[in-house]
Amino acid sequence: MTVELRPMGVACNLECHYCYQNPQREAGNLRQSYDLEKMKAAIEREGGPFTMFGGEPLLIPLNDLEELWRWGLENYGKNSIQTNGALINDEHMRLFKQYNVDVGISVDGPGELNDLRWAGAETKTRDATAKVQAAIERVCREWNPPGLIATLHRLNAVPEKLPAMKAWIKDLDALGIRSLRLHMLESENEYIRKNYALSDRENVEALLYFAEFQNELKHIQFDVIREMESLLVAKDQGTSCVWHACDPYSTEAVRGVEGNGQSSNCGRTNKDGIDFTKADEQGFERYLALYHTPQENGGCQGCRFFMACKGQCPGTAIDGDWRNRTEHCEIWKTLFSQMERNLVRRGEWPLSIHPVRKRLETQLIQAWNEGRNISLSNLSWAAEENGSRSAAQQEDFRLPHFARLAWTADSAREIWEPRFKKINEWQLQSGIHCVADGMADCAIRQVTPSRIFEYLRQASQKGLSVEPWGQGFFYDSINGNGNSSVGSGKYQNVIVGKADDLDKIIELRRTGDNEKIGAMLGIPECCRKFYLQKALPQNLKDPVWLIAQPGRDDVKSPLEWSGDPGLNIFLKAIGIQAVFHFPCSPDCSASTQIADRTIELARESGFEEAADWLREILSWPLEWSALNGIAEIKTPVAKISTRADATTGKITVQYAGSVGPEESIRGLGYPYNMAGKI
Ligand code: SF4
Ligand code: SF4
Repeated sequence: MTVELRPMGVACNLECHYCYQNPQREAGNLRQSYDLEKMKAAIEREGGPFTMFGGEPLLIPLNDLEELWRWGLENYGKNSIQTNGALINDEHMRLFKQYNVDVGISVDGPGELNDLRWAGAETKTRDATAKVQAAIERVCREWNPPGLIATLHRLNAVPEKLPAMKAWIKDLDALGIRSLRLHMLESENEYIRKNYALSDRENVEALLYFAEFQNELKHIQFDVIREMESLLVAKDQGTSCVWHACDPYSTEAVRGVEGNGQSSNCGRTNKDGIDFTKADEQGFERYLALYHTPQENGGCQGCRFFMACKGQCPGTAIDGDWRNRTEHCEIWKTLFSQMERNLVRRGEWPLSIHPVRKRLETQLIQAWNEGRNISLSNLSWAAEENGSRSAAQQEDFRLPHFARLAWTADSAREIWEPRFKKINEWQLQSGIHCVADGMADCAIRQVTPSRIFEYLRQASQKGLSVEPWGQGFFYDSINGNGNSSVGSGKYQNVIVGKADDLDKIIELRRTGDNEKIGAMLGIPECCRKFYLQKALPQNLKDPVWLIAQPGRDDVKSPLEWSGDPGLNIFLKAIGIQAVFHFPCSPDCSASTQIADRTIELARESGFEEAADWLREILSWPLEWSALNGIAEIKTPVAKISTRADATTGKITVQYAGSVGPEESIRGLGYPYNMAGKI
């Protein structure tokens, strides 16, 4: 685990064309102020030690840098920095030595090979590269050899450039450098990809070229090749984060700390130009989904290298959407195949062709289903005990219930989390009030076991009874956890109504009379018809897209959701909704009346503020999208990951909204590009 301290956010002295932080710069989110004490408190909270990171961390004034490293040495016995190296001067050298700073430098090669690390003009770029090279040599000479990170692209790794890279690497080896991590260029910018990214084949050839002269080097290890071989023999300890089922909502391997002390994720997951806060709980929906999603749809189904690769880093996912596998799939597949052959030649038995591979995969899937990650070295190779159908073998795959939330900023969380909770509180009460008001004979709501007796008491005060209605699921903000683990089953569905109505509806459920059940729940006839004729036959549990375009079978994404905000069901996974059924269309008039009356009831029942907040949230610009069985809902203050029905390709539904919260943060893509506009 690394704590990455980013005092200056993504501010940098260079303008590397392919930098993965460019989306944040394009969004204008260039924070340049920081608070030393807040940063220290955040590092302590994360459990330090920390690495100074950027942007370019050497942009911060020397006295502040010294103070941070003095504190780091005192508390953790060491410090580290990842820099582009161009600014390293005598004073920095003094600090490195005085405060035991482990130095990492990002550089792509000597001279013109490093030209993508652009400094504004060609001469400035070459000057900067010369300074970096001098700094590398100086750090080796006067302190400890730095670790290097190089990105492979058309300026340094096409066949005609590889001999120059080799000569440079041999020189670095002679200087005593031990670690050189090779990255593949990935950029959201189509122009950069087209002009500077290597083809899959060129990437493979470059990596194999480096692997081949590994034996000629005394010190340098190319981590990626060594790691891939280890993974194929189930030795994943010490391998990098990209192979460990990284959750993009919490990036366990990287704990970011921003200049204002806010915790954040690995910047590679930042595609919206916003440093989202970490989700409170890890989740593995990406890996469950990839395992079951066909490769032609962006998943990894059937890939024999899945246990080793797991779809790789979510920051490199196809189309910049973490729900897909890495866009470098073909490179990894080719390299894994090559390693597999090497291992077999050496008499070893790689995981990928091992007879117990399926059994081991099942253990991984089961662990992820339970919200746990598991090391390959901890898998049990013993025979299965019984023939029960495992999670990995389900043909009709659907993710378990879950909802995880990441806020756009701590400040947004401070304001809106208590409001979400208050609305959740009303949702629970609304079941009782809606039935007492005569809006329905019965209502289904979700209750935690600890609240069930209180709920019974509240219902009985209105002359109503409560019966169980199966296991439920609900975002756990009422209890302050901010999360529900996958498959936790913490909620109980209950049904509230008069005792004889409950007897009636329970009997209807036994006989499977969905039409009459819907009528007793107060669902308008048009919506019952829609559900029973359209959604139910397709077994849809979250038919947002179908509602957005009723009457049409061809899905043209992005779809527009236009209608009364009260019918907005994008946020039902976190209990923010004014109707509890699927409306037949976004402007169904019967459902609109129900939404209006429910919000009115909230006011009449002492939940005036919750009613206002609910109306406001449902009027925000929102985006719902489904891909590989995962729905992601983006709001101006948070994004939510929850389960969706399997869809062919990505489906996006956007709601224009009419009002944005003050706490909106500007970012890229909808709805973050609406900040300040409505
Ligand atoms: S997003 Fe990628 S680079 Fe970042 S922590 Fe996760 S796996 Fe590592
Ligand atoms: S090699 Fe490709 S298909 Fe196989 S697990 Fe990795 S990303 Fe998925």
